[in-house]
Amino acid sequence: MEECIFCQIANGKRDAEIIYSDEKVMAFMDHRPIGRGHILVLPREHYRDVFEIPDDILCRVSVIAKKLSIAVKRTFNPLGINLIENNGTDAGQTIFHFHIHIIPRYDSRYNNELAKVAWGRKVVSPDVLRETREKIQKNLETGK
Ligand code: 5GP
Ligand code: ZN
Repeated sequence: MEECIFCQIANGKRDAEIIYSDEKVMAFMDHRPIGRGHILVLPREHYRDVFEIPDDILCRVSVIAKKLSIAVKRTFNPLGINLIENNGTDAGQTIFHFHIHIIPRYDSRYNNELAKVAWGRKVVSPDVLRETREKIQKNLETGK
């Protein structure tokens, strides 16, 4: 995809601080880091989101995200690390080439209460949880 900036980075047509690269996966530093050591891990090939990426590629990207998270922890010893992957504009996706964010957390103000508020948690009844679980389970494809 010529217009995709992550494809351009993968093809060497755009600069980035590349921290990892193999034949299927690459990772580079986010240019607007949320915290020191914020990394993006992605497939070299263009897949829009979690709905497009093949299972085997997702596995490879995930394993590299784990290895890089361990390296970030060893390097900066953050208080915590989020692994986040956004799908769709309303979920915060701005670059439509699948990528996992590795986001180290250094600010304890985001612990507990503030973090919960930011995620907008709701209290729901056991019935609502059960109905929701049953509805999703009907659409769960297994063994693929
Ligand atoms: P999204 O919002 O799609 O989950 O995340 C896209 C991420 O890509 C953002 O965190 C943004 O800072 C990062 N990003 C966007 N353009 C570039 C770029 O040209 N170079 C690098 N290194 N990161 C980028
Ligand atoms: Zn792309």
